[in-house]
Amino acid sequence: MASFVEIVGEALQAYWLSPLSLTVLAVCGACMGTLLYVFVTNARNAKLRVSLLTGLYALSIFFWVFIAGSLVLCVSQARMVAYAKNGVPLAVFSALVGGLATSAAISAVVWRYGNASVLRTFAPRDPSAAESWLQDYVGTLAKFEGVGQIRVGIVDTAATLAMAVGGKHRTILVSTGLLHLLEPDEVELVVAHEVMHLKHHDAEFKVFSRVLSRILFFDPFSKFFDPAVHREREYLADEMGARSSGKPATLASALLKIASRGPQEKGSWGLSILGSGTGIFSRYPPLQERVNRLLLLSDLLRRPDADGEKT
Ligand SMILES: [Zn+2]
Repeated sequence: MASFVEIVGEALQAYWLSPLSLTVLAVCGACMGTLLYVFVTNARNAKLRVSLLTGLYALSIFFWVFIAGSLVLCVSQARMVAYAKNGVPLAVFSALVGGLATSAAISAVVWRYGNASVLRTFAPRDPSAAESWLQDYVGTLAKFEGVGQIRVGIVDTAATLAMAVGGKHRTILVSTGLLHLLEPDEVELVVAHEVMHLKHHDAEFKVFSRVLSRILFFDPFSKFFDPAVHREREYLADEMGARSSGKPATLASALLKIASRGPQEKGSWGLSILGSGTGIFSRYPPLQERVNRLLLLSDLLRRPDADGEKT
């Protein structure tokens, strides 16, 4: 009689040599390859790149959960996989369904609860009478952009902090340090950038991506995806915030002022408007490239015959 190890060996062989399981992997690989190709060949299309990264992330989670599920089935149901009629197709189908369900469940939990922990870290207060204009501005902009209610939370710190926190209670955090450093119109541009993050659910995606890259610590793809998710969403929020106000150069000036104050606060989960680092492993795009893009957009919007989205 065959030993347990031999049965598992036969199950693994039958499973991974079956055209069905190989097809699932091949389709997954082909989809990732295609998305990656479009990503690489569209360097300055932040909107497209954000969507592509979302797809790549979903595929990479599914890929690993499918592999793990397959291995668990090959070991726990080895006899069925190795010898039963339709054992392999049944196992592949179970791994496929289990993989999709598990990736959806992990995603839902992180999406729902990830951001709440960020809010607890900073414990913001309501704006004072002198700061209430900021809440009014955010309210109007959110209404115009169709974003729903957004709360402005003030954090009493000398650090220059601005970040969007998603989830159930969507909040834009602004520090008193930032309010002192910037002119009111620069503050408006900074919060417009944050409103765009909330509009595109960037806060949820960023926390999600960060948590997933920790869970999938062995996955080489997530080492590239996680920083790229952050970088592309920054570019997109810059562009959309600047377009909605029509003043890209003011956002560029605000970014330069914030950068002049040195590195950002720790523990912000990559949600703050500016961060350090360069290259493909950095969560933030290079400041110079952000400023360059904003100044180019400013030139475009200022052209006399411009028919851009000037408001
Ligand atoms: Zn941002």
